This record gives sequence, structure tokens and C-alpha cells, in this order.
Amino acid sequence: MVTRRQVDVVVVGAGMAGMCASLAALEEHARVITLEKGSRCGGSMTLSSGLIWTFRDRSQLHQQIPDGNPVLQDLVLDNLWQGLAWLEGHGVALEEEREFMGHGRGRAAGAAHLAEVLADRVRALGGEIALETPLDTLLYEDGAVRGVRTCGPGGAPPISRPGPLYWRLVASRAILSCWCAT
Ligand SMILES: Cc1cc2nc3c(=O)[nH]c(=O)nc-3n(C[C@H](O)[C@H](O)[C@H](O)COP(=O)(O)OP(=O)(O)OC[C@H]3O[C@@H](n4cnc5c(N)ncnc54)[C@H](O)[C@@H]3O)c2cc1C
Repeated sequence: MVTRRQVDVVVVGAGMAGMCASLAALEEHARVITLEKGSRCGGSMTLSSGLIWTFRDRSQLHQQIPDGNPVLQDLVLDNLWQGLAWLEGHGVALEEEREFMGHGRGRAAGAAHLAEVLADRVRALGGEIALETPLDTLLYEDGAVRGVRTCGPGGAPPISRPGPLYWRLVASRAILSCWCAT
């Protein structure tokens, strides 16, 4: 069975990028659904020390990561501190600014705390986070991606069970992919 749903924004992946993207869209009063294939939010950030940092300056950044996209690199460098203030505004408790191994500076938050606060904020602003709901297929219309089909909610149904449940999500404003296919 396929259930059709209409939202403004579909975010795929509830890692750090996906939850920040969801929050930003909710701030713009969009109807947002965040799809996460796993059973919890936070992605690889939950394995990290939670230090959000960037390099000291452009030349060091471009030298250390020569194959990176310079436009994106500059965006991070120029906006990190503003972004950290935005996270604090959403209730994330950040430690004092500190040095990172001679490369640059940043501020840390406990990884579990960060994941929990962001997920709570997404839900508090009316967003929906669908866990165990992986993106299955992109839906095209007139050559553009207009929606997605998911396996689930609740994960792909067992092969033995007939009549699989799927969501067909149509997005009127944007579909944001916040995961890497590896
Ligand atoms: C051990 C470790 C330590 C680190 N330490 C630091 C650090 O101290 N400081 C720092 O800045 N960075 C650190 N990093 C890197 C940082 O954690 C990552 O760059 C960042 O968390 C990536 O976030 P993301 O949201 O872009 O991607 P991800 O965290 O990869 O999130 C992607 C999400 O998408 C979901 N997903 C995947 N496929 C699908 C699908 N088909 N449908 C739905 N959902 C899907 C995944 O389950 C995941 O939750 C560390 C990373 C690791 C692994």
C-alpha cells in the first residue's frame, strides 16, 4: 500500500546536516518531514567528540584540504561562529571556544546532547522525524525531482509480508539530501 503525503520540504538524513536543514526550513514556516533510515538521530556526529570547528584562515584551510570545494570551504570559515550562535539560540549548550590541535578553533557540545536538542527542537517547531524510514526512490515529474518514495515508515517490510507499506512524499518547495551514498 502506498500512502501519498504532501509537504513543503523533505529532508533525507537526520544527521547534523539534516537536522540543521530541517530546523532552518521550519524557521521559514515550511511543513517539513525528515527521513532517517536508522533508529536514532545524529548520524556520524554521535560517534564524534562534538567539537564544531574550522581552520584559522583561508590559506591554511585550502592548503590542508586542497581538493575541497573552495566555495563551501569559505562558507564554513565565514559562517561558523554565526552558526554556533544559531545552535545556542536553539538551546544547544556549547563549551567555551578552544584550540583544535593547532589547526583552528571551535566549540564543543556533547554529541548525545546535540542530537537530542536538535531533534527536540525540530519536533517542537512542528517538524516530523520519521525514523527507520529510508529513502527508496526519487520521484520525477517533467524532468525534475518532485518527491520521494520511502521504505516504511518503520523500515522495509519483511519479504514474507505481502502488501508493503510505502510513503509517497510530494514536496512543494524542496528536497534536501543530507547524506552521502557510500
Ligand atoms: C569518529 C568520528 C569523529 C569525528 N569527529 C569530529 C569532530 O570532532 N569534529 C567535527 O567537526 N567532525 C567530526 N567528525 C565528522 C562529523 O561527525 C561529520 O562530518 C558530520 O557528523 C556529518 O554529518 P552529516 O549530517 O553531513 O552526515 P551523517 O552524519 O552521515 O548523516 C547522514 C544521515 O543520513 C542517514 N541516511 C543515509 N542513507 C539514508 C537513506 N537512504 N534514507 C534516509 N536516511 C539515510 C544516515 O543514517 C545518517 O543519520 C567525526 C566523524 C567520526 C566518524
